[in-house]
Amino acid sequence: MNLVLFGPPGSGKGTQAERLRNQLQLRHISTGDLLREAVAQKSELGKKVESVLASGQLVSDDIVLSLMRDAILAVKKDGSLAGWLLDGFPRTVGQAQGLDALLAETGETIDAIFVLDATREAVIERLSGRRTCTQCKTVYHVKYNPSRTEGVCDRCGGKVVQREDDRPETIAKRLDVYESQTRPILAHYQGRVKMHRIDGDLPVDDVTTAIENVVTR
Ligand code: ADP
Ligand code: AMP
Repeated sequence: MNLVLFGPPGSGKGTQAERLRNQLQLRHISTGDLLREAVAQKSELGKKVESVLASGQLVSDDIVLSLMRDAILAVKKDGSLAGWLLDGFPRTVGQAQGLDALLAETGETIDAIFVLDATREAVIERLSGRRTCTQCKTVYHVKYNPSRTEGVCDRCGGKVVQREDDRPETIAKRLDVYESQTRPILAHYQGRVKMHRIDGDLPVDDVTTAIENVVTR
């Protein structure tokens, strides 16, 4: 089963993916995580994309498509998983077309796209309060899901910090980029892939249940 979680930054894609991946035996592929990992490792790719991430703009389609190609082919080669769960990709119509071409090559399809519809007010509040563990990448929220001790990860004891692109000026930029470059992808898939709209403003458990109800029916 191959699924896509779609929605603006802060709509809860990463949070839901973490819950669904074990249950459905899927590889969670987040382009944001892959790019941040490259930045943290100070690889050639990381040096190239660091300022783009910090500004809230999108990394070029060719870089992201190359990362995705490797990730999707790795799941197929591994063979032990039921499929993949994409989070934060595709983000432009060009990326959606590139994904179409890759899937035509591997003989796979997208089984469903879940559109997490969250209001601008909700995502701004979530992104402003998001905190992330620098070591194991667990995501917290100062109000909705705080770590037991402020600044310390419950899971691994790592340092919990605010992402550089979760500051107010960059949040606004990222939401504008979503509206202008990412939302138009829905028209690309309309009538070709099953799309399910989920109310992303609901509490985390309710969103998970809504997705599970579709997947297991
Ligand atoms: P995305 O991956 O779409 O950018 P995240 O999953 O990282 O979004 O969620 C953004 C922030 O909002 C995190 O701090 C997370 O803990 C919190 N969050 C996620 N889903 C919900 C929800 N349904 N209700 C309240 N807070 C949420
Ligand atoms: P995310 O973790 O999904 O919020 O992504 C964080 C940042 O990584 C984005 O603001 C972009 O700069 C970059 N990024 C993540 N995914 C993509 C993508 N599919 N295409 C282009 N840039 C991306």
